[in-house]
Amino acid sequence: MKTLNYIFLIFLIGSITSACAQNKEVTITTHKLTENIYMLEGQGGNIGISVGNDGVFMIDSQFAPLTPKIFEAIKKLSTKPIKFLANTHHHGDHTGGNENISKLNTPIIAHDNVYKRVKNNPKQSDASLPILTFNDKLSLYFNGEQVIIFHVDNAHTDGDALLYFTKSNVLHTGDTYFNARYPYIDLNSGGTVTGYIEAVKSTMILIDDNTKIIPGHGDISNKKEYTAFLNMLESLKNKVETEISNGKTEKAVVSNSSLTKTYDDLNYGCCFISSEKIRRTFYQSLKK
Ligand SMILES: [Zn+2]
Repeated sequence: MKTLNYIFLIFLIGSITSACAQNKEVTITTHKLTENIYMLEGQGGNIGISVGNDGVFMIDSQFAPLTPKIFEAIKKLSTKPIKFLANTHHHGDHTGGNENISKLNTPIIAHDNVYKRVKNNPKQSDASLPILTFNDKLSLYFNGEQVIIFHVDNAHTDGDALLYFTKSNVLHTGDTYFNARYPYIDLNSGGTVTGYIEAVKSTMILIDDNTKIIPGHGDISNKKEYTAFLNMLESLKNKVETEISNGKTEKAVVSNSSLTKTYDDLNYGCCFISSEKIRRTFYQSLKK
């Protein structure tokens, strides 16, 4: 009996240690973009932070277990409260910390469809819900500038919002931009290839060579890299459309690595979305 208890104790210590080790692995890195705008990198979607006289404005909340570390990072930038949190879309790596932040009485802003998707997700409580939603666009006058929060139709999901800081010339794209990697286009949540490309094209008009871009995933970016990303999307769309019009099946397109070779060589398939996965997504979305 004693031996069994001992084994159990060793097992318990082992599990606790590995759980702690898992949490310890994620560190929050703060990147400064301008005098008052920062990007926090941890695990999940990049967080945008504006600090100033009005307080803290936060964009996306990553995963719930990271909230204490995120708060620690924000406190180093400002001692003022988080006045608003905006979500770029409903995915858990962008909204996981919502509940913790709404406990501070911080209102959450998001597109109408984010409300519906969070509400219908049994894993998320009502405390994670946005309380201020919009259909097309919304302006927030905060820390001395207008922040335009605007929706793009059926891009990464059906509830995407991008945020543009008009004076600071900073854009947060949410997951309508993955820097130097293939994007995740969530076809099951209303995302489409054509909508995704339109989102990048229409946003391009808003920015200039000095704009600093916070992508949903990947490093801080600029218009030049954003243009390269658009070129990748359009070239892949043309190639897959040609395959479809030549009667090629999904299986044939997925296994045809020549379609993505240029960007595979640049390591675009590095991360979450492999080259097979992006060919499948483009086929399935464009076939419709
Ligand atoms: Zn996402």
